[in-house]
Amino acid sequence: MPKHDLRDLSIEELEGLLSGWQEKPYHARQVFSWVHKKGISDFSAMSDLSDDLRKKLASRFFIGSLGLAKIFKSSDGTEKFLLRLGDKDLVEAVSIPSANRVTGCISTQVGCKFRCSFCASGISGFKRNLSVAEIIAEALFLKYKSSQKKLTHIVFMGTGEPFDNYDCVMKAIRIINSPFGLNIGARRITISTSGIIPGIKKLADEGLQVELSVSLHAADDATRDLIMPVNKIYPLKELIPACRDYFKKTNRQVTFEYIMIKGFNSDLKNAADLGKILKGMDSKVNLIPANPVKELKIEAPSDKEISQFKNALSASGINVTLRKPRGEDIEAACGQLRFSYEKK
Ligand code: SF4
Repeated sequence: MPKHDLRDLSIEELEGLLSGWQEKPYHARQVFSWVHKKGISDFSAMSDLSDDLRKKLASRFFIGSLGLAKIFKSSDGTEKFLLRLGDKDLVEAVSIPSANRVTGCISTQVGCKFRCSFCASGISGFKRNLSVAEIIAEALFLKYKSSQKKLTHIVFMGTGEPFDNYDCVMKAIRIINSPFGLNIGARRITISTSGIIPGIKKLADEGLQVELSVSLHAADDATRDLIMPVNKIYPLKELIPACRDYFKKTNRQVTFEYIMIKGFNSDLKNAADLGKILKGMDSKVNLIPANPVKELKIEAPSDKEISQFKNALSASGINVTLRKPRGEDIEAACGQLRFSYEKK
């Protein structure tokens, strides 16, 4: 019988399995604790389990480990890991420390179907979804193998579109959120989407207190079409109402990410358009100056232009913050490693 990765199981599933083996369900909590709280991947090290149970678990399951293919360390403390999965596919995970938190940026797919033109992840196309166990393994890797040895927040903003691997991402979130797992509060977990409307609608019904972040990067369909092909399927005129509905249903604020690219989406007309489409919505806009890419002539607007844009948005009643890109020197902008946009 082929073995399965134990980290695919929720605590309830593990309890059910152990009950079926005539074992006490509380052993599930012990196993979870070894795997998720102590980062142990060897059943024989689970010293509070009987020898018999350890052997039984080892005969049915494995706890796979991710290989480290490469590590990039930024001068700001950010670490990007290129991780090798069991089948040799590669994904990236990033550890981003700041004053009182360490955020893990996690991938959900190998490659991506959505081909945003500013993102390296979409270039080679989509290969496959990550399993629940692989998503959890990234989080565990960041917690136990990064220099920080700590993980307080998670953003699903690495390679892949989380809503395109919806069921695995939701299950992984519930396991990460579990008090018997990594115990990271739902409000410390952010799902970042390119704007997949069915995913936004489904999330609204999950009863999960996670944060929702939508990559906007433009305030009109013609401009957004140029950099995010997904806009042709889910255009702003439908996406923004879906976000308004999400707020109505969940009472949870939506964050909009807006990468500022000089000469493309950063003038006062763009700010006015953005103010208009978000008017009256309880939301937040994160402005992110573009990482410069010399060969593509992509650069961030001047500080003056950025601050005029920000002030114009604030004046129209929008809650706006300016985010400093992290890990600039290692291109660690979470799935947006490199701009490939050329304005047509
Ligand atoms: S930004 Fe996200 S959705 Fe767009 S191509 Fe990259 S990984 Fe895919």
